[in-house]
Amino acid sequence: PAPTMATVHGGRRRHVLLFPLPYQGHINPMFRLSGLLHARGFAVTVFHTQFNAPDPALHPDYRFVSVPNGSPTPVLVGIKDVVAQMMELGAACEAAFRDRLASVLEEYSRDAVACLVADSHLLPIIEVAARLSVPTLALRTGSAACCACFLAYPMLFDKGYLPVQESQRDMPVLELPPYRVRDLPIVGEDGGGQVRELISRATTAMKISSGLILNTFDALERRELEGLRRDLAVPVFDIGPLHKLSPAGGDSSLLLPDRSCLEWLDAWPPESVLYVSFGSVACMSPRDLVETAWGIAGSSVPFLWVVRPGMVSGSADHHHDHHLPEGFEAATHGRGMVVTWAPQEEVLGHRAVGGFWTHGGWNSTAESICEGVPMLCRPYFGDQMGNARYVEHVWRVGLEVGGDLERGSVEAAIRRLMTGDDGAEMRTRAGELKKAAAEGTVEGGSSCLAIDKLITHMLSL
Ligand code: UDP
Repeated sequence: PAPTMATVHGGRRRHVLLFPLPYQGHINPMFRLSGLLHARGFAVTVFHTQFNAPDPALHPDYRFVSVPNGSPTPVLVGIKDVVAQMMELGAACEAAFRDRLASVLEEYSRDAVACLVADSHLLPIIEVAARLSVPTLALRTGSAACCACFLAYPMLFDKGYLPVQESQRDMPVLELPPYRVRDLPIVGEDGGGQVRELISRATTAMKISSGLILNTFDALERRELEGLRRDLAVPVFDIGPLHKLSPAGGDSSLLLPDRSCLEWLDAWPPESVLYVSFGSVACMSPRDLVETAWGIAGSSVPFLWVVRPGMVSGSADHHHDHHLPEGFEAATHGRGMVVTWAPQEEVLGHRAVGGFWTHGGWNSTAESICEGVPMLCRPYFGDQMGNARYVEHVWRVGLEVGGDLERGSVEAAIRRLMTGDDGAEMRTRAGELKKAAAEGTVEGGSSCLAIDKLITHMLSL
């Protein structure tokens, strides 16, 4: 029978401690996971940085422990800053976390604490827990394929795939099909320095933990999961798609979603609207924004576009449609809506939405697949290139829009997705994956079984 109540002798609740990495794409899956564990009887304590702190009022059942992260975090201007910041955050709160963890352990009593679930990018936090004898599970918020890539990083350098040489960008990585060199998680000109360090730390975090939790599922990444289970000594739990398994949605949003767009969508026929969003971090050049805008305008397709504060490089002001080219609003009058932040899961689940222009973050990709929405992927950095590769070549539920953005090709790609024959085929395949995802989330399905295994494991630690 499935373990349901996470109790110790005497009926006291077991505690699970969580520490998310404070970015939207990492916070969301961690909170979905916490919801799931809470529903299974665990008492939840969330440690969090002051930076991007969650709102405790939205989670009255949880206890929150704020951990100071030192000097104020600098304004981010690009992905290199994000990588640097990601590495700094764990180290910056290490000492303060140690003190807070020690007092929590004293308060709850050591036996009552099952484990800490920490983001795999928080190695210093995982090490502190180990020193205080608290078992840890690492949550990786990317795909299993990306995780395999992380583990393969030393090999990729040994074999000369990395650092990337311009002439080799289209070369297939034979050990990691269907990746090409250009699809590997790298950052522009970084040459592998800082990113290599980031990946090496995440790999260590996974290896020294008592298990790895992935927000993916069997029907999507069976082969990749088999590979990970072969290569890693720790158990791997493929408990995704977390947003479909856990109650509550939207309550971990750092920005306020504009819910009026759902009503706006109501007026459109099924599968007619293109949803456009680049996630919470990706930043585009002013030129790309202009070409994207005119491509959308030229396609004649109805659209809902998230233009986030800070989404365009070099712009510090926070007015949502300020960056859109002059004349865009008039040219698209009556068939477009622009918002600063959307309730994305609900938008993708709305019957009017027929396609998603995405940066290909893992959450966005999984959310789109689970609603049967085909994608145009415009990857920017990190795991996004690899996700786009899988979308186009493995699941065949979308297309990558690569190279220099140009309004004519943007327009053609949108038409192909929304009204073309191959767009319809991609939509059919996305619908099949949606069905497979849903089958995993019912009793006895692969995701539910993985959750049962995870909970049994947590209670055995
Ligand atoms: N998201 C949202 N509203 C938006 C844009 C994004 O709620 O307008 C959510 C989206 O549903 C996803 C997360 O923000 O859960 C973004 O994560 P992802 O991994 O796709 O990208 P990242 O922001 O990490 O690059």
